[in-house]
Amino acid sequence: MKKTAEIVIIGGGISGLATAYNLAAMGMKDVVVLEKGYLMSGSTGRCGAGVRQQWGTEMNCLLAKASCEIFENLNEILDYEGDIEFKQGGYLLMAVTEKEVEQFKKNVALQNSLGINSVLLTPEEAKEIVPDLNIEGILACAFHQKDGHANPFHTMIAYAEAAKRLGVEIYTYTEATGIIVENGRIKGVNTNKGDIYTDKVLIAAGAWSKKVGAMAGVDIPVRPERHQILVTEPVNHRLGPMIMSFAGNIYCQQEPGGEFIMGHGPAEHETYSVTSSWDFVEEMCRKAVRFLPYLKNVRIVRQWSGLYEISPDAQPILGRVEQVEGLYVATGFSGHGFMFGPITGVLMAECILGLPTRIPIDKLNLGRFERGELIFEPSVV
Ligand code: FAD
Repeated sequence: MKKTAEIVIIGGGISGLATAYNLAAMGMKDVVVLEKGYLMSGSTGRCGAGVRQQWGTEMNCLLAKASCEIFENLNEILDYEGDIEFKQGGYLLMAVTEKEVEQFKKNVALQNSLGINSVLLTPEEAKEIVPDLNIEGILACAFHQKDGHANPFHTMIAYAEAAKRLGVEIYTYTEATGIIVENGRIKGVNTNKGDIYTDKVLIAAGAWSKKVGAMAGVDIPVRPERHQILVTEPVNHRLGPMIMSFAGNIYCQQEPGGEFIMGHGPAEHETYSVTSSWDFVEEMCRKAVRFLPYLKNVRIVRQWSGLYEISPDAQPILGRVEQVEGLYVATGFSGHGFMFGPITGVLMAECILGLPTRIPIDKLNLGRFERGELIFEPSVV
């Protein structure tokens, strides 16, 4: 293992790897990524990989739109021989309460003002897009055709291979156990395999970011929350867009291979456990069959769980950490960090290199919590 680096990135998920790739692509020579498990062992390898631009805050809309534009060209950008399988089948968001209908109206107006061409639909219009949808209890829908989903494994492999080709060193099964700070400046990282000296560290440790931040004496207010998900056997193609209900607490999509992937997110206690439960399967099936009755005879082949990295306002925490010179953070995506991954990589690389970021990220910095400048995102599952 190297003894020195220009930067050490802690976390081999999409945030860490996309930043490593972009730093190398922008000219940084000596980039090291530490991953305590295997690549994708964190949330990225366990996610639904949905990508939507229909958000309720300007910042999330801008980030998602920019990320989506990168996804559209990612195979070419990363010179990937495989396919990240980015399919833009749309996202159909279903409002089941009057409060949600009002929120959807505001969201669509905001999105349209930012160049995101989402539309409000009546339930009957939504049924034209998803003929199998049971519209009982649905009051209105919002739809955006350019939303979609990708394959998280191919996306990560594409980033990791492109980063390695540019000289990035990725050390798996290498855990950061301490961050060396002297006189308020980063000096290095202790790992279970030895120390690496550096004056820059990026914490991209997902749901573990609070623990890693504490190693540098910094409080990163991110809590881990278990979310479960399942996949069915492949069946004939019937569902074009991802369907999602915030109040109904469900998302469901059909993969290119015909499998349905679906999850719901009851608030859970803070935990690092990624076990699965029978209760989830029962509740998930009830919710899915309510919206898509034909799913009732489809068999489940696997269930698993992963961690959301929840921030206090459900918005990412990006940028420089003011208390420690040379420390940066990219986390707090609150269960939506896959879709923000490509733009996170670009913005963090620009920030670390001292360049102007193409989307201003000052409002997302860690200091906002101390200053009480939170920007709440209303549209999350
Ligand atoms: P991670 O992928 O978690 O990577 C962080 C890595 O840091 C981990 O691999 C971990 O092992 C490593 N690490 C931690 N501590 C250390 C240490 N001390 N030393 C070395 N390495 C360390 N997002 C979407 O955009 N769309 C979705 O549809 C979606 N669905 C989801 C469904 C589920 C069930 C779950 C659980 C998440 C979902 N997400 C979704 C959220 C998304 O998976 C995460 O927000 C995203 O993957 C975060 O990426 P990351 O790189 O920041 O973190």
